Amino acid sequence: MTDAETGVPDAGFDDWIDAAEEGEAYYLECPEGHGSLPPRRVCPDCGATDLEAVPLPDTGEIETFTVTHVPTPAFEDDAPYATAIANFGPVRLTGQILGIELEAIENGLEVGIEISVSETTGERVLAFAPA
Ligand SMILES: [Zn+2]
Repeated sequence: MTDAETGVPDAGFDDWIDAAEEGEAYYLECPEGHGSLPPRRVCPDCGATDLEAVPLPDTGEIETFTVTHVPTPAFEDDAPYATAIANFGPVRLTGQILGIELEAIENGLEVGIEISVSETTGERVLAFAPA
């Protein structure tokens, strides 16, 4: 799925989830070193168009999180759950935190990417688990 000339995978977010599920998560890097996630054709920071796929670091750090006890209907069977923003260096990812007691979650916690299935919608979602 990689265009040999530009190195940019011709991929949408579903394909990115596929890659992440196989332990091959990546991000897009522009010549200035800004990171973004697919589907992107243009660097959101500087407008550069020659983006390159770079492997995502294996682990990131929880930067901030919130615990949801009363979710939107789309996630009602998943509650209570924690949603976090994790800093993976060049990019920040948002997802649920799995495999840990909600009380044990703290900022700075090291996590890896986990692809989970929403218990409510059956759709694959990006999640984190303690590294
Ligand atoms: Zn840029």
